[in-house]
Amino acid sequence: MTIILKTDPNNPDPLILDKAAKILRSGGIVAFPTETVYGLGGVVYNEDAVKKIFWAKKRPIDNPLIVHVSSLSMLEEVAVSIPEKAYLLIERFWPGPLTLILPRNPKVPRIVTSGLDIVAVRMPAHPVALGLIKKTESPIAAPSANLAGRPSPTSAEHVIRDLYGRVDAIIDAGETIYGVESTIINILTKPPTLLRPGAFAVEDLERVLGEKIYIPSFARGLGEAEHAIAPGMKYLHYAPEASIILVEPASQNIESMVEKIKTLASSYLEKGVRVCVVASTETIEKYTSLKIPILNIGSRSNMFEVARNLFKTLRKLDDLGCIIAIIEGFEERGLGLAVMNRLRKASREIIHV
Ligand code: AMP
Ligand code: MG
Repeated sequence: MTIILKTDPNNPDPLILDKAAKILRSGGIVAFPTETVYGLGGVVYNEDAVKKIFWAKKRPIDNPLIVHVSSLSMLEEVAVSIPEKAYLLIERFWPGPLTLILPRNPKVPRIVTSGLDIVAVRMPAHPVALGLIKKTESPIAAPSANLAGRPSPTSAEHVIRDLYGRVDAIIDAGETIYGVESTIINILTKPPTLLRPGAFAVEDLERVLGEKIYIPSFARGLGEAEHAIAPGMKYLHYAPEASIILVEPASQNIESMVEKIKTLASSYLEKGVRVCVVASTETIEKYTSLKIPILNIGSRSNMFEVARNLFKTLRKLDDLGCIIAIIEGFEERGLGLAVMNRLRKASREIIHV
């Protein structure tokens, strides 16, 4: 049984938060909105609750969970030997979509960190998430509230679609704000390492740190789908049912990208395959002659909008029954890095033009 608790995102109903906190304190698991995507939470110290999270999501146990806190004292409860650099970032970016890798306090069960001696921690800025952690009076372990491998949920409808009947409650407070997950930084390395690009741009973190952050190729989403691999061979993330082909423009050569997508789409159309295109505000008009579903993911000059629409658009492809979806690539600057990381990981094939 799953109960749905509806509330206002900006002024969450205290009775709703109480109800959800009570479920969490008694070992249940609750999906709730954060400013990035919806999370699926359980009390971090309750191993059974944490096991339920992995079960509900069908998540491999070697994929660790982020611990969510609502105060610095909670942070110091789950992490130890916190370096000065961490506080530098915390002061500027918390509460907000920044996750820090820190030495794990042995109080945190190993299942949360998949056996690692480091723990990922963040303080969410969403009033519902923050309010819920405060009411529960405990750090909450929470991955994204989707089935493993699927696009992350940016609305309660997405959570209901994936997890209804598998979790105790879902708090519905409308759409999330950023639409991509938190930026994850390991500040224990020299220089700090980006583990996952997210809602806060790396460039902004670097300005506060006063040093460059190392960006390994896996953080750009490269390594797996770089070369076309036979369908079904690759481990996909954030993926809809539709097979995604990503067309990346070299040095923002938008025109050849559009031409390539049109040629590809036509060839699938000729074979009788239901093909769809994900375009941008600037290019959408160029595909109208194809007479196939064309989705607008947002403007190339507003990556905040593109990030916000990203997972919603991927899920929409399935609603439209697309078998193949050809998606335009974006520049890796600012939020573009997070967008391209997700798109590359969701793709069956990447084509450079
Ligand atoms: P999700 O909450 O579904 O966005 O997934 C959380 C992600 O955070 C994981 O997939 C890991 O990449 C990362 N993460 C969580 N805990 C750790 C950790 N202890 N060390 C390194 N990465 C982590
Ligand atoms: Mg996830």
